Amino acid sequence: MQPSMFNVSVPLDSASRDGDVFLINTFTDAQLIVSRDVAALIDRVADGGGGFNQTEREALSSLAEHGFLVPDRESERQELEAFFRGVREGTDKLAVTVLTTLQCNFACDYCFQGDHGDYNKFAAKMTMETAARVVAWTEARMDALKPSTFQLTLFGGEPLLNLPVAYYLAEHLWNASTRRGIRMTISLITNGLLLTPEVVDRLLPFGFVGAKITLDGDRDTHNRMRPLRGGQGTFDRIIANLRAVAGRCTIAIGGNFDETSIDSYPALLDFLREQDFADRLSRVSFKPIIRERSPQPPKGLIPLTVVGAEGKPLNGTCMTSAGSGTSGCDSCGVLDDKWVAVREETKKRGFPTIDGVHMGPCQIHRQHSYSIGPEGSLYACPGFTGDPSQSTGHIDGREEEWRTLASRRFDAIAAWRECDGCAFIPVCAGGCSVAAHTELGNLNRPNCHKRSFEAGVAGLAREAARLAAAN
Ligand code: SF4
Ligand code: SF4
Repeated sequence: MQPSMFNVSVPLDSASRDGDVFLINTFTDAQLIVSRDVAALIDRVADGGGGFNQTEREALSSLAEHGFLVPDRESERQELEAFFRGVREGTDKLAVTVLTTLQCNFACDYCFQGDHGDYNKFAAKMTMETAARVVAWTEARMDALKPSTFQLTLFGGEPLLNLPVAYYLAEHLWNASTRRGIRMTISLITNGLLLTPEVVDRLLPFGFVGAKITLDGDRDTHNRMRPLRGGQGTFDRIIANLRAVAGRCTIAIGGNFDETSIDSYPALLDFLREQDFADRLSRVSFKPIIRERSPQPPKGLIPLTVVGAEGKPLNGTCMTSAGSGTSGCDSCGVLDDKWVAVREETKKRGFPTIDGVHMGPCQIHRQHSYSIGPEGSLYACPGFTGDPSQSTGHIDGREEEWRTLASRRFDAIAAWRECDGCAFIPVCAGGCSVAAHTELGNLNRPNCHKRSFEAGVAGLAREAARLAAAN
């Protein structure tokens, strides 16, 4: 026997639990509070110690049962390989994110696309003909994979600027799923300006489960960060829309901060807590703003995950939502101390939020998670949809060498192999490949934010100690 590679321990210091240790195994997700003596048994095993008494043997047996002790390193490595293979090849869920348009009705301060200049005049928008081909392509995937669930995410740009296509996809894919006995859900990532009860009611019969809306700070800050083209604020309208739809579907709140806006987040959280819809929010989570790489970042900016390769703009993919969306992608963004602090403030007010540990593996590791651009190009994840050279195929089945090569690159992603010895591999998988691609020039290199995982485990430990004290 030897200790698992994926054990993390946190000594507890609360009055009632002083002397105890919080243990988590990121592979089995077992979480225990044990006495320091029991935790020390793991070290004794690591040191090759023996001569355990009956009580100690029972404790060791329980630790092994939860995965804290494993037969040997080699078999654990094989299990890890099998785990990632299972994630990659799993056919139980088919997930498709469709960018209905790259146009946007916001002129966000930090986004060089959106309603700036003549961007919207040229930004792609899905036609009904392409939407019909998306349906046919998805049906073929359903027939090939026979999944039990199908998850459609509507994304953009601002997806609600192309409602006919959104409705068409919802209805036709719902019919396709129902005919095959597949359970379908629809999620929407939107800026919230056009999210009305009418839109929700139109989507509800087709498996609509919820929307993710972005708020970038309290009222004044959000209005500064996310105005309309003429500079008009958008906060009040979004909140009014949110209130109107909150009883009909789940709503998750996301947001993006930099050093100029971070201090307004406690006020935003207080404001949300006071609203009649507060308890209907399914998740509240914020992340640093994603900015394009600049040789000398403007003074005062938090170091941010870079999205948008040098000289290659994102062509309208709304990165304010990718990476923190209801599409399952919450791993992007440099997770620094400020991010951790905002998460703690969110928890303090009783909102469900991400715990900073259970972050992945993200959808880029799932072969049957697809993103589709407005003209039908396929991508491995929403974060790459702004860079056509990263397209892995096309819904019309055209064969082009550069797409085939890209597809092979994405199939081979396993940055975690370079992370040997890290306890967070099962929940991190080597970090965000989009960030690795842009920051390191290689999407198959680890993009490491280990400190934020450690902060997440510390948060889980505090929560476990609190719950234990309450019982
Ligand atoms: S690679 Fe990055 S952007 Fe893409 S799904 Fe994973 S975390 Fe999200
Ligand atoms: S990227 Fe960092 S935190 Fe993630 S698995 Fe690798 S070493 Fe661990």
